[in-house]
Amino acid sequence: MRAVQASGELILERGEGAHVWDDAGNRYLDATAGLWYANVGYGRTEIAGAAAAQMRKLHAYSHYGDVSSRPTTDLAERISGIAPMADAAVFFTSGGGESIETVVKMVRRYWSLVGEPDRTVIISRERAYHGLAGYGTSIVGTEAFKVGVGPLAGGTATVAWDSPEALEAAIAEIRADRVAAFFCEPIIGAGGVLLPPKGYLQAVQGICRAHGVLFVVDEVICGYGRVGDWFASNRIGLEPDALTFAKGITSGYVPLGGVVVGKRMQEPFWETGAAGVWRHGYTYSGHASAAAAAHVNLDIVEREGLVARGLELENEIAEALAPLAAHELVSELRSGFGAVAAVQVDPALLADDPGLSDRIVLGARRHGVLGRVLVGGGLQISPPLVITRADLDELASGLAGALDDAAAAHHS
Ligand code: PMP
Repeated sequence: MRAVQASGELILERGEGAHVWDDAGNRYLDATAGLWYANVGYGRTEIAGAAAAQMRKLHAYSHYGDVSSRPTTDLAERISGIAPMADAAVFFTSGGGESIETVVKMVRRYWSLVGEPDRTVIISRERAYHGLAGYGTSIVGTEAFKVGVGPLAGGTATVAWDSPEALEAAIAEIRADRVAAFFCEPIIGAGGVLLPPKGYLQAVQGICRAHGVLFVVDEVICGYGRVGDWFASNRIGLEPDALTFAKGITSGYVPLGGVVVGKRMQEPFWETGAAGVWRHGYTYSGHASAAAAAHVNLDIVEREGLVARGLELENEIAEALAPLAAHELVSELRSGFGAVAAVQVDPALLADDPGLSDRIVLGARRHGVLGRVLVGGGLQISPPLVITRADLDELASGLAGALDDAAAAHHS
């Protein structure tokens, strides 16, 4: 709070394509697609029009019980059609955090319905990020997010982010008959853009299967084109039991998220049993205007080939950023799985000067690039999927300028 008070706020006013403008008329290339969501870019009046039209007709109605609206029901079907699991069902929320809350309760209730109520433990990974609602904060893999908020949810465990053996060992230690689910992001996003080691995701899926543990993939960042397929799971042939989404479903034009659930997890919820109605839902679950916006957003993704563009950007981003690898402040570039990358500021320098990455990001604004620092001090690169090759050069040279400024200040 003090830092913002000292430097003042940056007030953004409008956007177009991959660029945004502040209230003084300065233009910035958006290196991060907002918070990894603006996949179709800024200024899409078509999406605004669809939301407005739905608002004029029926802006929303509670979707509890048997009530729905056409855009919402159709959107569930549309998502089911592109999901990595067969016969998928969709539960809508307002964003990623609520999706995580929902899926934690869903997996635990699943086990209680199938007669294994002791299976409650949720295993997540170090460095993982699953939003900051109650359960999300309880399973986050970076301790800084947990400081000072008192007791969190119990029944959680974390394992090394990159080791199938660590998961196997944790399941053995906790005992499989107490483990409800393993949660994982295909790419650890906010935790630093950490790409899965080769074979990691297939291996952990196999371990979950072998022990009956539910496999939950958090695709809040990866979904709807960012990684060169509809979901990361489609791209690498995973078939999770449940998948969470948000962000790219509407490119952030309105808040919307959800959980996609495969057949195995659906079954006990559809059975009429002693457990009765599952009393879970949010005021805005299934919001009709959000669904209308999502349809047009997906129409744009399809029409403009943005899923394929996500795949092309994998190489184009790596190429554009490559010259930065030799910079004295940079220890590593991470890329290679869709339109996501990180420029890692040297941890050895950050150890002495923890504010270095923040200053680089602030400095980049003077070079026309709006960016963000990840956990661990990397610079987040996840531009709108409409970014051009020329824009990527603009992004790389803006970052190079900011790195040079920071290096000069570091030496003086
Ligand atoms: N899961 C992942 C993987 C995320 O990246 C995020 C948000 N960055 C969330 C969950 C939480 O989403 P929200 O901020 O919409 O609650």
